[in-house]
Amino acid sequence: MNLHGTAQIGQNHHLWIGGTDTVELAKKYGTPLYLYDVSLIKNRARGFKRAFQEKGVGFQVAYASKAFSSIAMFQLIEQEGLSLDVVSGGELFTALQAEFPAERIHFHGNNKSYEELEFALNAGVGCIVVDNFFEISLLKMISSKLDKKVNILLRLTPGIEAHTHDYIITGQEDSKFGFDLGNGQADKALEDVLAFEGFRVLGIHCHIGSQIFETEGFTLAIEKLFSHFKKWEESFKYFPEVVNLGGGFGIQYTSEDTPLAPEQYVTAMIDEVGKQMRRFEGRDLPELWIEPGRSLVGDAGTTIYSIGSQKEIEGVRHYVSVDGGMTDNIRPALYQAKYEAYVANKMNEKPAQTVSIAGKCCESGDMLIWDIDLPIVTDNDYLAVSCTGAYGYSMASNYNRIQRPAVVFVENGEEQLVVKRETYEDLIKNDIPLKTNVFV
Ligand SMILES: *Cc1c(COP(=O)(O)O)cnc(C)c1O
Repeated sequence: MNLHGTAQIGQNHHLWIGGTDTVELAKKYGTPLYLYDVSLIKNRARGFKRAFQEKGVGFQVAYASKAFSSIAMFQLIEQEGLSLDVVSGGELFTALQAEFPAERIHFHGNNKSYEELEFALNAGVGCIVVDNFFEISLLKMISSKLDKKVNILLRLTPGIEAHTHDYIITGQEDSKFGFDLGNGQADKALEDVLAFEGFRVLGIHCHIGSQIFETEGFTLAIEKLFSHFKKWEESFKYFPEVVNLGGGFGIQYTSEDTPLAPEQYVTAMIDEVGKQMRRFEGRDLPELWIEPGRSLVGDAGTTIYSIGSQKEIEGVRHYVSVDGGMTDNIRPALYQAKYEAYVANKMNEKPAQTVSIAGKCCESGDMLIWDIDLPIVTDNDYLAVSCTGAYGYSMASNYNRIQRPAVVFVENGEEQLVVKRETYEDLIKNDIPLKTNVFV
């Protein structure tokens, strides 16, 4: 059993998180219920900042808000002094509703619309991470129309793709994101944006992957980028003020995962940038920005379910169903993601059977966990699935017209509901009945 953050086993043999009894919260707010361990999020945020501060490097840590976004989450990120990545008008709107300082918002995405870009510039976001030539042309139009100077980063694809333990080096990356370093697109984009006086070209951005366990992918990307900066210095007399190295730092979902401490990725990046800077005499170290999503909120989240039906197929499999599934956590169905789980009200009991945890949707692929050892369970029990804080609630859907769950923040014995459970009424609020005498 690998308990994360403030999770511990209480004297009543229940799972406690943030000094609160998860079983009591499940009874109070209903299930499925998303719980977030606020201290864990704060510790991660502070750890990332400290890693930069210790090395005396200018930085921004931007929370990649797609991992989990809500007004309360954005308020927490603002309190911790982090910046924020948004990738849509909806995420930007939520951030502004949370009164997140616009100048610390970075706007990402490979297909931002004219309306979204105009919304972002009117709101005064800190920078636009420009992804493609179409976007450059939209931004030129909007900048001219609004008579506004636009801070931009160019998103580059360095031809290094990192996943967990592996990375792939390709001359040219087959990715929908960014300007390719290998085929000259990046040079063309830089030339284009430098020539437009409505842009302030702060620097570059690069994000090489997600759930990464090694530092090599990052250091190789940095090496590639800085070699290219050498060319840019010669051809364009340009050197970036900001180098944004993205996110992707791995977390431990199960004992199979062996990530580094989050700060170690940062330290490795700073050291590699320092090494590369020796080639640039007289240049200042650029500000280094990172964009952690999963590593800020992933293991801070736990989902509590009620256990319902069970089906035993002798010699084949024992299914245990819960009252949620792919509607609140699509990751197992979408990318065979693995999770650990506990019986939240029987934390003292030893495993007595191997079961598979099924969701309640009409899809045989709606499975949360295959083959997990658990104590004997009944429909009075609660299952806690750990590490569901990233890309869980944020990818939730209403498939089968199932309501999205409630979200509660916990810390030091305090709890607060931060997202209400959807109601049946919420499910039909956009539905419009047929008019009479139409489609008859
Ligand atoms: C998704 C994403 C991140 C965050 O990735 P994590 O793996 O959650 O840390 C950061 N930057 C960009 C551009 C992203 O698309």
